[in-house]
Amino acid sequence: MMARPAPYLDELNPAQRQAVETLDGPVLMLAGAGTGKTKALTARIVHLMNTGRARPNEILAVTFTNKAAREMKNRVGRMLGETVEGMPWLGTFHSICVKLLRRHAELISAEDQDGVVEGRPNLHLKSNFTILDTDDQLRLLKQLIRAEGIDDKRWPARQLASIIDGWKNRALTPDRIPSADAGAYNYRGPELYDQYQRRLLELNAVDFGDLLLHVVTIFQQHPDILRKYQNWFRYIMVDEYQDTNVAQYLWLRLLAQGHRNICCVGDDDQSIYGWRGAEVGNILRFEKDFEGAHVVRLEQNYRSTPHILAAASGVIRGNSNRLGKELWTAEEQGEKVRLIGHWDGEEEARWIGDEIESLQRGTRGLRAISPDQMAILVRASHQMRAFEDRFLTIGLPYRVIGGPRFYERMEIRDAMAYFRIVTSPDDDLAFERIVNTPKRGLGDKAQQTMQRVARENGVSLLDGASLAVEQGLIKGKGAKALGELVVNIARWGRMTRATVAVETDGVVDDLAQPLQRQSEVSNLELAEFILDESGYTAMWQNDKTPEAPGRLENLKELVKALENFENLQGFLEHVSLVMDNEQDDGGAKVSIMTLHGAKGLEFPAVFLPGWEDGLFPSQRSMDESGVKGLEEERRLAYVGITRAEELCTISFAGNRRVFGQWQSQLPSRFVDELPEEHVEILTPPGLYGGGYGAAAPSGMSSGIETRAAEANVYNSPGWKRLQARSAERPVSQPKETRNTVIDMQAVAAFMIGERVFHQKFGYGAVVGVEGDKVEIEFEKAGIKKVVSRFIVSADA
Ligand code: ATP
Ligand code: MG
Repeated sequence: MMARPAPYLDELNPAQRQAVETLDGPVLMLAGAGTGKTKALTARIVHLMNTGRARPNEILAVTFTNKAAREMKNRVGRMLGETVEGMPWLGTFHSICVKLLRRHAELISAEDQDGVVEGRPNLHLKSNFTILDTDDQLRLLKQLIRAEGIDDKRWPARQLASIIDGWKNRALTPDRIPSADAGAYNYRGPELYDQYQRRLLELNAVDFGDLLLHVVTIFQQHPDILRKYQNWFRYIMVDEYQDTNVAQYLWLRLLAQGHRNICCVGDDDQSIYGWRGAEVGNILRFEKDFEGAHVVRLEQNYRSTPHILAAASGVIRGNSNRLGKELWTAEEQGEKVRLIGHWDGEEEARWIGDEIESLQRGTRGLRAISPDQMAILVRASHQMRAFEDRFLTIGLPYRVIGGPRFYERMEIRDAMAYFRIVTSPDDDLAFERIVNTPKRGLGDKAQQTMQRVARENGVSLLDGASLAVEQGLIKGKGAKALGELVVNIARWGRMTRATVAVETDGVVDDLAQPLQRQSEVSNLELAEFILDESGYTAMWQNDKTPEAPGRLENLKELVKALENFENLQGFLEHVSLVMDNEQDDGGAKVSIMTLHGAKGLEFPAVFLPGWEDGLFPSQRSMDESGVKGLEEERRLAYVGITRAEELCTISFAGNRRVFGQWQSQLPSRFVDELPEEHVEILTPPGLYGGGYGAAAPSGMSSGIETRAAEANVYNSPGWKRLQARSAERPVSQPKETRNTVIDMQAVAAFMIGERVFHQKFGYGAVVGVEGDKVEIEFEKAGIKKVVSRFIVSADA
């Protein structure tokens, strides 16, 4: 047979090519950021198919985010052109596990746990299970905790949730909790975990951690099934291997046993999910687990300029436990990493907004960079709001990636609960949520009755409600409405049934066959129908609060989103799995996302705001004894800087409003760790008479801590060191006056037109003075009269 042309190989360097062409046996690609690991992995998938070594569906490729999976799919598609039919199994651990678990859900039963089946007979998972989100998970745990008479103020549900997640990440079922963990959650942890798992089965639900845990359990208990998949997935590939947890590791090892055709790529310096149970040790012991593994190291970085790379290397050098890799690049020197301090978080957002606009036009001899080539990477999602506010104000198009925000809104969660109860009638949590939304005249008493009837008969809440109505235990208007709801849910269910049935047959052998789905009505129509007929849409139409129109808009958007899915269940699955559910409606937009979400991505220009101790590194990592947490934060800094191709701008603010409270901040210790010869210090405009209210509201005793911002920002050793060495652009000390604490008596008189700052309302201009009250037109809050001692002059 003639070899097919393989142009994708020509784009690789010799080390990458080696990794791509070593198709059999274990391969580990261990290399730093931007060295082309993902590129090589993608080429390897293509190569397997192109050489006829594997059919598409014999390849299993695991990525860390859905976005990464989508990108890889696109790239594979492009590289292959029309030559091969079908696509490999390509997705996140979770999305792949959902598919597997739906095929074998019945094998997860209560008996696995202790051999005793209480409550509902034949209690096992069904393939139309619901995936709970964190919110549902917490509510459920709270119910269990309270039922046990435990004080959930003292022992919060959140704490139990994180303990249970931890166990699941380590692939520990309730019967396998090690004795060392017996004391967890005041010695009640293991037993509550058991109860929680049982309750989930009753609800025909799983949480996120279960997706992997259950599949691992099935593989371990049913060797025949495992063997089937081992034969099926003949080639396994994993990106971002440094962030796998024990459950994922076991899953991979089980699948790769036998053929051992597994290729993992990763970077120990980018391990940033330790807090979620990831074990960087997995990558370090790969060679032990897979003897004779072929290890490929890549050293050339193709992404970033030398300054950016050197800055990142300088920071990561502060970590002790490293394999230690040196990267080089053939790129041009380019711009130094830019560092800038701001008065507060709002000013930081304002400056970044302005900067993005000037970069867009092309500034200081740089090429024009379009907004979609720029990203703002934050440490904590609460930082996003300041940027959203500012960008909305100036009309800068942006997109928030990784915010599950849309799906967290009340109306969306309500609508989803309707869809859930329709596709999964055992989902008590969903039923509870909608049974009296809109109001159906069902008070607490009626709801307790349904719960009781359900419990006594060992049936779902929905069936319990139905029984309670039949037996006349609930009376009056409520009974009629409830009866109608129960009938409706059954009818809506029948309408969707046809679309789900095919996937629930549990057949394993037809993995190659695309699942067929047919439906009489489109999802979109069905969803609209459910929301209308249930009275949910009308509830918001009749609502006179200012938020109601927005909520109706959101519902429309939700229904529209359904268009892309074959059935309701597929949609629900998507929603529970997406971590990066950005709606890609085209257009060049700036991306705002967390550092964690940015892993594996790259942008010509990257902004890294909020480099302040307590924010980045996080307070928690600083409070921890030992350096483990801090080292993980430092790896996160490394991930952040190495996302940048041409321009990387780091910033910090002296004051920041966190959850409504002003706090004064110190620049991050990571700022001090930046190698100064690769850093250029920019001057914040507010400091030297520029536009942005430079005066320190530090004299204000209320709220803002009185430490002057400059004392924080500009007296840090790193800042001074950087300043002293910043040769080409000397930065003078901030003006003396800026450190002066403002004398309360002296500021009583303001001039019309004067720029001022108020702790709560922000910046504004004085439009009138009346005794000790000043009328101010605030930039955001509009005109307000405030007592003069609460404002300070912001004119430089
Ligand atoms: P990360 O650790 O951040 O995930 P990575 O090692 O996966 O990085 P890639 O994203 O695969 O790196 O590649 C980084 C950039 O370098 C991409 O833009 C990619 O197209 C480019 N690149 C990789 N290898 C080569 C090569 N041999 N020649 C030219 N460009 C390359
Ligand atoms: Mg990568």
